[in-house]
Amino acid sequence: MNLQTKIAAFFGILVVCLVATLLAIGLFSFRQYSIATATEHVRTSAEILRVSLTEDMVNGVISKREGLLQRLMEVEGLKSVRVFRGPQVEHQFGQGLSREQPVDDVERRVLASGNAEFHLEDNVADTTFRGTIPYVATNRGNPNCLMCHQVAEGTVLGAVTITMSIEQIKRKAIMTLALMVSVVTAFCLITFLLLRRLTYPIVETATHVEEAVHRAIDGDFTSQVLVRTKDEIGQIAGEMNRLLSHLNDGLNRIGRMVAQLTNHAPTASNGNLLTSTIEMVETLTAAAHFKQAIEEDETKAEIYVRMSAAIEGLFGIRRYSIYEVLPVRNQMLPIMVDGQTQGACRWCDPQILIRNETCRARRTGHAVNAIATPDICFAFRPPEDQPATRHICFPIIQSGTVGSVLQLLAPPEDQERIGNIVPYISVYLREAAPVLEAKRLTETLRESNLRDPMTGLHNRRFLEESVDTLIAQAQRHKMPMAFMMLDLDYFKMVNDSYGHDAGDSVLKALSRVLTDSVRSSDYVIRYGGEEFLILLQETDAAAAVDVAEKIRAAVEDLKVQVAGGLLQKTISIGISGYPADSDTFWQAVKYADVALYHAKDTGRNRVVRFTKALWEGGNKDDY
Ligand code: GH3
Ligand code: MG
Ligand code: MG
Repeated sequence: MNLQTKIAAFFGILVVCLVATLLAIGLFSFRQYSIATATEHVRTSAEILRVSLTEDMVNGVISKREGLLQRLMEVEGLKSVRVFRGPQVEHQFGQGLSREQPVDDVERRVLASGNAEFHLEDNVADTTFRGTIPYVATNRGNPNCLMCHQVAEGTVLGAVTITMSIEQIKRKAIMTLALMVSVVTAFCLITFLLLRRLTYPIVETATHVEEAVHRAIDGDFTSQVLVRTKDEIGQIAGEMNRLLSHLNDGLNRIGRMVAQLTNHAPTASNGNLLTSTIEMVETLTAAAHFKQAIEEDETKAEIYVRMSAAIEGLFGIRRYSIYEVLPVRNQMLPIMVDGQTQGACRWCDPQILIRNETCRARRTGHAVNAIATPDICFAFRPPEDQPATRHICFPIIQSGTVGSVLQLLAPPEDQERIGNIVPYISVYLREAAPVLEAKRLTETLRESNLRDPMTGLHNRRFLEESVDTLIAQAQRHKMPMAFMMLDLDYFKMVNDSYGHDAGDSVLKALSRVLTDSVRSSDYVIRYGGEEFLILLQETDAAAAVDVAEKIRAAVEDLKVQVAGGLLQKTISIGISGYPADSDTFWQAVKYADVALYHAKDTGRNRVVRFTKALWEGGNKDDY
């Protein structure tokens, strides 16, 4: 119920109450007043009659009293006057005129008691007032009653019944009451209209403020309240407008800043611009924390794990893939698939792994949104249990090219929600991209420091950095390792006879032979100029001898085409076992070297297994 209605209701009730009270009091008062007035009239008339009758008696013309009564009837309002005698008078003077006996109980009672009685008789046609007043004998005055009547003082001589109409008084009372009610009603009506006029700006302003507040709750601060007056209400409206403008301005500024930071202006996607802006700011804050966390992560792998946690925990997406684009040979590598590291390529044609241009996001560098455009990418493979699933793929740009691709799967029931959170996910990816790029560069640099650029093999530094891990692995699995130290025989001659480039070609060809001869879990290290160390994991020295023999034979058969002709070289190999020969890593490497020297000393193109005798028999200082 608004204020105007309340005021109208209040005045309605007020008028009804006032009029009712006024009528009740008025009617009661007028009744009392009418009775009092009529009583007075009746008493006066009775007194006048008494005086006249006494006069007539004294003057001896009492027999003419009929005429007196007739004349009295001429008094306006008097309807009847009837005098009747008490028993004492009747006894003294006889019954008198025919109508001078009491006719009803009232008259008889008055004669008996000597007390006047008054009655109001409300008829439909007329309202009359009847008074029956006794005449009591007194000896006061001259002449007095006792002079003619032979009765004791206080005897009821007779009585008079006077009936008079009070219709006129009643009409006047009703008229007066009607006038009063009209005046009161008019007064209330005028007061109501004035108050209504006075409260109209309050009600209107309150209604506008209410509307503006409702719209503000829905995130719309553009409404303005009409300023109608210059009083406090006008001030409230003005201040409200200032507040709304301030909030609108603030929201727009925040929106512009959010748009700058996210490349996406907040929209009232859920019908509330304020809520979506707050959500965006919250996302930006969370993304800043996310960036801080991944900056402090040590490896790219840790970043990808953290990204997965955000995808699952924050964005509630269960099926997704993170691919890394490899810089060589157009390959892609699945890094995280549905929360598993190094998972298989699950939601794409595996073609993308070897021909990464078949990945649309990788090729175009743009987000691929199959929720907006179904079947946009031919490489997508939806889950068999949910063929209507769609996908969104985001390229993560690093160093100006697509470094990684995030693929999100959207089941039919979740497509709208996932479509709406695309800007939020983009914020996270934008934060992650430079950090991933930095980590990738660091790892590439680090990797290049640990490899020999000419052969692509690991270098000695790699061994030095990995030694702790290698020992820990061997100890954890309680498995032996074997070391193979290899050195080309008379290699210097190649350089001397064919030139340094020819020597390099031989070294490259040898590297390939070595790499192809061992398992991928083994390490082939360019240990020195033309010296190589092969570290065979989970292999004892005896098994290593067989591998070495194969290598030796393969090198012997290797023909390298160089500028000056076809070269064929041999290689000498020394072998030691860890922990069989030494439980010290570097000592075991040294023993392999000792065995190599022995191979050289004993004719070259040989494989020699280290024995303690070699160490003790030889001149240790030579090594
Ligand atoms: P040995 O049978 O005793 O091993 O005789 P050798 O001539 O091979 O002797 P040594 O192993 O001492 O010779 C090493 C030579 O390898 C010296 C150097 O000219 C050559 N060399 C080392 N690194 C490179 C390289 O990167 N490229 C080329 N072309 N030659 C290298
Ligand atoms: Mg050498
Ligand atoms: Mg050599």
